[in-house]
Amino acid sequence: MEKECRARQSLIDACRAMNASGLNQGTAGNISLRWKDGLLITPSGRPYDELQADDIVFLRMDGSSEHELSPSSEWRMHRDILAAKADVGAVVHAHSVHATAFAICGMEIPAVHYMIAIAGGPDIRCAPYATYGTPELSALVLEALEGRSCALMANHGMVATGADLRQAMWLAVELETLCKQYALALQIGTPRLLSDEEVAINVAKFNDYGLKKKPRAA
Ligand code: 13P
Ligand code: ZN
Repeated sequence: MEKECRARQSLIDACRAMNASGLNQGTAGNISLRWKDGLLITPSGRPYDELQADDIVFLRMDGSSEHELSPSSEWRMHRDILAAKADVGAVVHAHSVHATAFAICGMEIPAVHYMIAIAGGPDIRCAPYATYGTPELSALVLEALEGRSCALMANHGMVATGADLRQAMWLAVELETLCKQYALALQIGTPRLLSDEEVAINVAKFNDYGLKKKPRAA
């Protein structure tokens, strides 16, 4: 299979995995991958089970495309994240239940578990609400991602980024898990938070852990 066809198929596989795992449902959510001088992104409103490699839309960084299908309504958010963050190669947006529940309450996720470190700091912010697919939403999400690899989106969902698709998907699953754990802990008692110093130690450790590992210079 040609390289671009493999990249397109990897996006479809990620979308199907995202729904099969319960991280997302229906045609909600969208995924993009940095590709050449633009990005490959899921088309808008299409069931992931029906997608073919050719249905994935190539967008230039100026938002133009020759594809007959419309790109995801959140293309600006994906494009703006990829444009602003050179180390990001893939973006996953999902309406996962627990992350979205916190986003509905406009709550950020504090340092309730050492895994908060995968976000890059002691909290995961919640971007204020704006209508889906708008430049306003994109700007608010980009602000919430300042110094962070993921964020919640008020009354909407979550966004996770990574150097590649595997890393962005891994982060999306970990963020949802963290939100699930925090939601449960809030029902049981009063969550105890880790200090900023302890989170900083874990952020440093994660630079050398599993999928978050930075590629070693040759
Ligand atoms: P699209 O089908 O246009 O990608 O929209 C889904 C979504 O989650 C909008 O925020
Ligand atoms: Zn959405």
